[in-house]
Amino acid sequence: MEAPSERAPSHETSAVITPSTVVPWTDGPAPTLADVQTHLGECTRCELCQGRQSIVFGDGNPDADLMFIGEGPGEQEDLRGLPFVGRAGELLTQMIEKGIGIPRSEVYICNIVKCRPPRNRNPLPPEVSACRPFLDGQIRAVAPKVIVTLGKPAASLLLGRNVAITRLRGTWQEYQGIPLMPTLHPAYVLRQYTTENRSAVWQDLKAAIERTRA
Ligand code: SF4
Repeated sequence: MEAPSERAPSHETSAVITPSTVVPWTDGPAPTLADVQTHLGECTRCELCQGRQSIVFGDGNPDADLMFIGEGPGEQEDLRGLPFVGRAGELLTQMIEKGIGIPRSEVYICNIVKCRPPRNRNPLPPEVSACRPFLDGQIRAVAPKVIVTLGKPAASLLLGRNVAITRLRGTWQEYQGIPLMPTLHPAYVLRQYTTENRSAVWQDLKAAIERTRA
């Protein structure tokens, strides 16, 4: 996630919570991304709605073979309404375009939560739960051949257990029948900018793109 902002944490103001609604795509035909986004609307299902400038739904090819899932929007993402457009996003784009050699527009990128957590803290369990149906809807809509999770929270959520990302990265996992490659979050790589970390992510992305072509 991006560098901390100066904005006050949203929990200092009162919550505007609406009840979670039953999502229409848990069974039956897969939704489109537009269906999911329409259902999300101007969401106030968790407290993260209070501090946001934008809902950062997702970006990229709706028929992508490769889907990237991060943790939550940072400052730049919140301002621009797009995922992974700050410094970490630039690194991710570079790794996709120069590392594995495909345009970023060919992949689909989103986050576990669609609104920026205050001071870029990790999303809290109620926030993750409130937003989870929309991530599930996105995964069903895109139906990627391979999912790449970026960082520990995304891998832990999809695998349903608390993972040690530095140990798990680079090993094939599965989410609802879809091969899943956990890798390091680009913000972590920026903080620990070592050849070893850059090379680890590059290897993971290379394995992921090769799997989409298998
Ligand atoms: S994080 Fe998700 S559930 Fe929470 S307000 Fe934003 S869109 Fe709604």
